[in-house]
Amino acid sequence: MSSSRPHHMTDTHEVMNQPAPRGDLDLWEGDPALRDHAGAADGAHLGQYGRKIGRLAMREAAMEANRHPPEAQLFDTGGRRLDEVTYHPTYHMLMQAGLGAGYAALPWEGATGGHSTHAAMVYMTSQVEPGVCCPMTMTYAAVPALRASRPLFDEWVPKLTARLYDPAVAPLARKAAATLGMALTEKQGGSDLGGTTTTAVRDGDAYRLRGHKWFCSAPMSDGFVTLAQAPGGLTAFLVPRWPEGTRNNIHILRLKNKLGNRSNALAEIEYADALAYPLGDEGDGIRRVIKMIHHTRLDTALAPAGLMRAALGAAHHWCAHRSVAGAQLIDQPLMRSVLADLALDWEGALALGMAVARAFDGSGERDRAFARLGVALAKFLGNRLCPTVVGEAMECLGGMGYIEDTGLPLLYREAPLNSIWEGSGNVICLDILRTLRSVPAAGEVLSDMLAQVTGEYRRYDAALRAHMGRFPRLPEEGQARWYASSLATLLTASVLIRGAPPAIAEAYIATRLAGERGSVPGAIAGVDTAAILARLG
Ligand SMILES: Cc1cc2nc3c(=O)[nH]c(=O)nc-3n(C[C@H](O)[C@H](O)[C@H](O)COP(=O)(O)OP(=O)(O)OC[C@H]3O[C@@H](n4cnc5c(N)ncnc54)[C@H](O)[C@@H]3O)c2cc1C
Repeated sequence: MSSSRPHHMTDTHEVMNQPAPRGDLDLWEGDPALRDHAGAADGAHLGQYGRKIGRLAMREAAMEANRHPPEAQLFDTGGRRLDEVTYHPTYHMLMQAGLGAGYAALPWEGATGGHSTHAAMVYMTSQVEPGVCCPMTMTYAAVPALRASRPLFDEWVPKLTARLYDPAVAPLARKAAATLGMALTEKQGGSDLGGTTTTAVRDGDAYRLRGHKWFCSAPMSDGFVTLAQAPGGLTAFLVPRWPEGTRNNIHILRLKNKLGNRSNALAEIEYADALAYPLGDEGDGIRRVIKMIHHTRLDTALAPAGLMRAALGAAHHWCAHRSVAGAQLIDQPLMRSVLADLALDWEGALALGMAVARAFDGSGERDRAFARLGVALAKFLGNRLCPTVVGEAMECLGGMGYIEDTGLPLLYREAPLNSIWEGSGNVICLDILRTLRSVPAAGEVLSDMLAQVTGEYRRYDAALRAHMGRFPRLPEEGQARWYASSLATLLTASVLIRGAPPAIAEAYIATRLAGERGSVPGAIAGVDTAAILARLG
């Protein structure tokens, strides 16, 4: 957008009561809730990144990247296979901004709070352009999966964590940096990876894969972590995209036409005897890829908090500068109830996500156990709330919320996605039950966290007792959502009691645990709306 001011007068009327565009945003300084919940994250780094990624130019680039989705270039003019995808230049610029700032590298560089810093970057980047988060997140999360093979780890990890972005179509050795994707889902089922039909046969030190993957995001990644049936059972592999001197036999069939996440590509692919290297032993595949999925899940827990934050920031700005019937919307009691209620879901998701990221930064058994359980609880609850919060925030702008220029439609299209991938809602709830059954330390840490904050808020204590009364033991599968949402809400309240201003914790407990809320957003009373809205910056 040009820097010269637009005319307020058109030929026929003066433009009034239309809020001015928001200009540059500081996603760190302007977000007191993030700073409160960031824990050991690197505030100086986040300050720099938040200022950069929140600039108007970045947000405009994000819109551009979504207006010009990627295109498949399957063949060259002469009909020779290319199997490439071209992206808009703004997509590359945003990838450079994130990877260059250490999005994929920071947690593996050994500094204190690396996963927390990364998690806050996911939260901030999701506010601007969620599409690039997908390839950057997979690159971050691939590192633990590569630990299964020392040679592959040594060859790939320095390039994945180089704090650079290099989109060249070239073998790894000739690139300054690389990205990795994850191709697991096949046509017959994504939740049940045990049913994978792709086969792997030995070829010297490597293998040849034959089969398909029905969902493969970021197909221009330099390689994919994937699963195939080897003679010894389901096995994890790394499939390089551009081996030395040739293109691997990874054929892109077409790009899927998605609801949102439009700057990013999603391909259907076939492995036609594609070269692949094993990650761990034959038959150990699920255990290997779970290490990657565990880390992508952290990002799917923070992304909805970012989407909610972006939508609420836009709604708050609009209401502060728009009047209806002679009063600013932000001063109208019902609008305050709506915004405050939505803001509680956003801050709850942010606080819980960052608490889980702290466990990723820990190294003890209790941290590991809580990370596994907590990430599932946070992913489940945050993503259940996100579409409703974004949709309601959109309505706060009236008709303009439905218009692309405001950015709300981009957020709305993105809102359901983080619930679907990396374990859909039901799968996550069943995983929560499985973890509580198989990892006793997870339940112990959770119980301790919930118990440690009792005695401060009578209604929290009562809600905790009610939960334990309703679920004296793990429920049967049919009640897993009820159980998971109850537990995740209690855990969120406990995290807010620890880290948020008392008015926020009080309001969250009253409305989410003590029944002082109707069945639709905004149906609340008796909360300190001024304190809650102040969190929106
Ligand atoms: C935009 C996008 C990008 C994607 N990118 C990738 C990618 O890069 N790589 C990749 O591998 N995959 C990718 N996926 C696929 C995604 O991970 C899967 O769609 C997801 O895991 C669900 O698998 P499915 O579609 O086969 O559904 P199913 O496995 O058929 O599940 C359907 C529904 O049944 C539910 N369900 C499953 N089991 C149970 C049960 N026991 N009890 C009750 N309910 C159950 C699930 O929660 C889900 O709601 C992507 C998906 C999307 C939308």
